[in-house]
Formats: sequence, C-alpha cells, structure tokens
Amino acid sequence: MISTLKGGIEPSELGATLTHEHIFVLNAELVVNYPSRFPDDDLVDRAVRYLDEVKASGIDTIVDLTVMGTGRNIPLVTRVAERSEVNVIVATGWYTYHEAPAFANLNGPGRLLGGPDPLTEIFVRDIVEGIDDTGVKAGVLKFATDHYGITDGVFYIMQAVADAHLETGAPVFTHSDPKQRNGLDQQDYMEKRGLDLTRVVIGHSGDTGDIDYLRRVADRGSFLGMDRFGLEARLPYDERIDTVARMCELGYASQLLLSTDSSAYSMNFPDEARQERLPRWRAPEVMNSVVPDLRTRGVSDADIHAMVAGNAVRVLDPAQRSQE
Ligand SMILES: [Zn+2]
Repeated sequence: MISTLKGGIEPSELGATLTHEHIFVLNAELVVNYPSRFPDDDLVDRAVRYLDEVKASGIDTIVDLTVMGTGRNIPLVTRVAERSEVNVIVATGWYTYHEAPAFANLNGPGRLLGGPDPLTEIFVRDIVEGIDDTGVKAGVLKFATDHYGITDGVFYIMQAVADAHLETGAPVFTHSDPKQRNGLDQQDYMEKRGLDLTRVVIGHSGDTGDIDYLRRVADRGSFLGMDRFGLEARLPYDERIDTVARMCELGYASQLLLSTDSSAYSMNFPDEARQERLPRWRAPEVMNSVVPDLRTRGVSDADIHAMVAGNAVRVLDPAQRSQE
C-alpha cells in the first residue's frame, strides 16, 4: 500500500500522478504568530478548488513535497484532502539550503548533547507510524542542496534522509540546482551510503537544457524531475518542452517525471506577482499544456504515459523496496 492523506492506496490506484507539487508553501513562524492573517478556512477552500482543477485536467494523484522548513501542516492539508478526489502523498524531511534546525545541531551523534539523531527518528516515525497523532503516514523523503553546497546543516539532513531510507525503503526526492550540476553530488553521497540510485528522484533537473548533464545523472539510474513547467525565470517553458522531447528521443522517457512545483497557495509568491509573472505556473498545466505540446513535438503516447503515470508507480510502489 502507498500512504496518502486519506490512508493507504494500491499502486494501481495512483493513476496519472504529479510527483513534485505543493498544496501550501507556508512559513510556520508566520502561521503560528499571525493566524488571523492566514485564515484556515480560506486556505482550505482555495486549495480544494485548485485540486478540483487538477483532477479535471486528468490527474489522480499528487505528491506534496512540502516538508518541515517549508511549512508542512498535516492537519490543514488533511482538511483539503477530505474534500478532494485527488490522492495526496505527503513527504517527510527538512528543507534548508544552509542551516539545520538548532535542535539538530545540538543533538545527535558527535554533537554537543549526543544521543540518537533526532531527525532520523522523526523521519522514520513519520513513515512507519505516522506524523505525530494525525494518523497520516509520509510516503516519501526529501532533502535539498543549493548554492551553499553541502554545509554541515545540509549534511545532517542528508545523513538523516539516507538513514531513514535505509530503514524504511521510502523513495528519496531532492531539490537540486542543475546549473551547479549538484544532482551528481547528491548521487555521490547517496551511493556512498549504499542507496540504490534508482530509488532517488533528482528534483528540478528540468531547470536546465544541458543534455550532457542530464544524461550523466540519468545514466546512474536515478529519475529526473522535469518538475517546474511554468517557472519561467529558471528556464522558459518552451526550452523545458524541448529538453524533455530531446531526452525522450534519446531513450530516457522511463526516467522522467513531469510536474510543476507550484502550489494552491504560497507565502513566498503573492497572488498578484504570480498572476503577472508566472501565469502558467499551475499544476493543471501538465495535462492541459505540457502533454499536448510534447505530443506536437513527436513524443509517443507510450513515453507520455510513462512520464505521467508508469514511472510514478515505479518510484512510489513499496514493492519496489523489497527488490533492493
Ligand atoms: Zn518543491
């Protein structure tokens, strides 16, 4: 079974799946201190409407990669899922480009107060037992590396994600910056820790048109997240389409995952800025625009099916774990 906000589902129930999305991107400090500025009911209503559009576009399942550090809020997204037909798989992990949270800097093997690594404990419990008392289990793990590289803080998170993967088998999703070719660094670390790189999705790989780099990452077995359609500043939409079409021509469709990394609501992108600058940065665009545009570029139905459905099963199905 695959864990979702509404309980376990069979791999055959995944259907068309977007593997890198968000319902909410929040700042937990703002939510706790200024709840009146962010009324729950409004957030839930707009997210339900957004997921209705996602469903109407032809999508059955999303992976919500919002982890701690980007405002994961399981009670809130559960209220959304209860009113939606879309299956939502949630993640555990910690999102930082630089510092680990202070409790992780002080507690853990080799740190001031010693003891077991608190991040590993949290990540494993989220997957195996559930997230606090919500009854919801996380289905995937996530970490990020970006322009600071693998700092001590980022390393603590990577270490805990690798440990939690080795204990639970849950797939690992990353945030990477392909302009720095750092998906390769992520693979180096995971490989050194003994992970099977076919269980790793190198996120935001679609931010580059550098085919040589993408092939190097893919040839080591990982999936590539072509997952930010509509986020124009990183790479224009048409270049993203070109890159995916080219990778399909080269035979990599079985390792590509299509998604947008957008959200129903983000505190980082106010609505007006988003409508003005990023009008296509919306999850329904994968089925409404990306898939037809790839077809126009000559990508076959079989390759499209792999990228929006088949590959997600291979990433998310727990049965894949026992084959390690
Ligand atoms: Zn994301």
